[in-house]
Amino acid sequence: MKKEQILHGKACLEVSLGDIVMQKDMDAIANAANAFLRVGGGVAGAIHKAAGPELEKEAMDKGPIKPGQAVITKAYNLPNKYVIHVLGPVYDRDVPHDKYLADCYSNALDLCEEYELGSIAFPAISTGVFGYPIEEAAPVALKAIYSKMPSLKFVKKIRLVIFSERDYAMHIKALKEL
Ligand code: ADP
Repeated sequence: MKKEQILHGKACLEVSLGDIVMQKDMDAIANAANAFLRVGGGVAGAIHKAAGPELEKEAMDKGPIKPGQAVITKAYNLPNKYVIHVLGPVYDRDVPHDKYLADCYSNALDLCEEYELGSIAFPAISTGVFGYPIEEAAPVALKAIYSKMPSLKFVKKIRLVIFSERDYAMHIKALKEL
């Protein structure tokens, strides 16, 4: 598997090429959810399909959520303990989009700390249907995670799971520029 990682504080930040539903070694995965926490398409569709219908039942009771907000549910048939659902900004609508995108990563990490989780994998939130250009989203995501790393007590591993070679290259560039 293609991956690169850096250490900061006591935590490790990794960028890897892969599929978010295959992260067996992670305590939690993040879902790029919609406001109502319904199944949806894209990465959310893949996560709900792998988790089974119970995920939507639990998640919908916790919605609707606002851009940047994060809520946690069990992970059902996924190989993880929890799913942390975040609502990314719609690029043209939810401004300032960089603040809302950074809040997604930061609030998800706060939930991990609250639940004393050691690891979380994120997809590239908002970079699909929500239209956030990958070359702009990658540095925002990586900087948001990196700046929180020294304050993390429980989370030791954060993985960004990137779905295409092109998007992976953008994230590696942003990782090297941290
Ligand atoms: P959003 O609505 O937040 O834009 P999308 O699901 O449309 O969310 O896309 C977010 C990102 O997730 C896109 O870059 C897309 O390529 C990627 N993606 C889609 N499926 C997967 C998957 N199974 N694992 C990891 N990333 C995925």
